[in-house]
Amino acid sequence: MDSSVEKLIIIGSGPAGLAAAIYAARGGLTPLVIAGREAGGQLMLTTDVDDFPGFEEGIQGPDLMMKMRKQAERFETRFISEDVLSVDFSQKPFTIKTETKELKAQTVIIATGAKATWLGIDSETRLRGRGVSACAVCDGFFFKGKNIMVVGGGDTAMREAQHLSKVASKLFVVHRRDAFRAQKALVDLVTSKPNVEILYNKTIDEILGEDKVSGVKLKDTVSGEVSEMPIDAVFVAIGHKPSTEFLKGQIDLDEKGYIKVRDEVFSSVDGVFIAGDVSDFRYRQAVTAAGAGTKATLEVEHYLEQ
Ligand code: NAP
Repeated sequence: MDSSVEKLIIIGSGPAGLAAAIYAARGGLTPLVIAGREAGGQLMLTTDVDDFPGFEEGIQGPDLMMKMRKQAERFETRFISEDVLSVDFSQKPFTIKTETKELKAQTVIIATGAKATWLGIDSETRLRGRGVSACAVCDGFFFKGKNIMVVGGGDTAMREAQHLSKVASKLFVVHRRDAFRAQKALVDLVTSKPNVEILYNKTIDEILGEDKVSGVKLKDTVSGEVSEMPIDAVFVAIGHKPSTEFLKGQIDLDEKGYIKVRDEVFSSVDGVFIAGDVSDFRYRQAVTAAGAGTKATLEVEHYLEQ
C-alpha cells in the first residue's frame, strides 16, 4: 500500500474519536485524527463531569478532553485541526478533503457527534452551565430536590423528564403545542408521575436570573399572555443535530441525518466505522461514546487483518 495512504483516519475528537485513537495508536495503527476547528466536542461546553468513571472528585469537561488527547498523543496519534469538507467513499482507498488537504485512508472511523439544539435566546446562552442544560443525566443531580423545567415534546424530552422526575421536587414539562410527538408509552410514563405537571401551549420567552437560573418568562402560544414562574433549572430537550452534512450521498443516513449502523459500529460502507452520538441518539454519554470508539477501533483492526 502507498505510504501516503493512512491505515486509519478518525474524523472527530470528542470522547468517541479520542478513545478510538488511543486504542488504535496502542494497536500500532498510527491513526490520524481530523479534530475539527472546534476540537473536543460537546464536553468542551460542559463544566462538572461527575459521572465519568475514574475521576472520583469529578472533572471539568475540557480537562477530560485534554487528558484524553494527551493520552492519544502519548502513543503517537497525529492531529489536524481542520474541518472535513467532503469525503469520497465510492472507491478505495477512501478520500477525505479538509480545508487544505486531500487525504487517503484504508479505513475511516466517523465520530463527529451531534449538537444539541437550543432555543436561541440570549438568557439561555448566558445561563448555560448555571441552571441551563441539555443533558439530564449529566446535570440533573445538581438540582436534587429543586423545581425543574424540561422544554420539548419529543422522545428526548420524555426521557429527560423521566430521569429528572426522580431528582426534582416538582418537574414541569413545557411544550409549544397541545400534543406531544413522543411515543405514547414514554408520555404515559412521565405523566403518571405525581410530581410532574405538563404546561401545554407555552414557550420560554426568557430565562431569568443573574448568576444562576431563578425563573422563566413563559408565553402562551394561543392567547399570547406572558407570565413569570420561579424555577431552579431549565433542561432544553428540543432535539439534536448530528454533524453529518459532509457525508450526504456517501453513506446511509436516517431521515434526521444520523448515520445508520448495524451491529453498533458498521456503516453502509465496508471499511467505514461509526462511533458515538453521530449515530447514537439514545444514550449520548461520554462514556458510551468512548466505548463505541473502542469497539470501532477493534473492528478496524479486524478489518485490516483480513
Ligand atoms: P424531535 O422528535 O425532533 O422533537 C423535538 C421536540 O422539540 C418537538 O416536540 C418540537 O416541538 C420541540 N421543539 C423544537 N424546536 C423547538 C423550539 N424552538 N421551541 C420549543 N420547542 C421546540 O427530537 P428528539 O426528541 O430529540 O428525538 C430525535 C429522534 O431521536 C427521534 O426520532 C426520536 O424518536 C429519537 N429518540 C428516541 C428515544 C427513545 O428512547 N426511543 C430517545 C430519544 C430520542 P413540535 O412537536 O411542536 O415540533
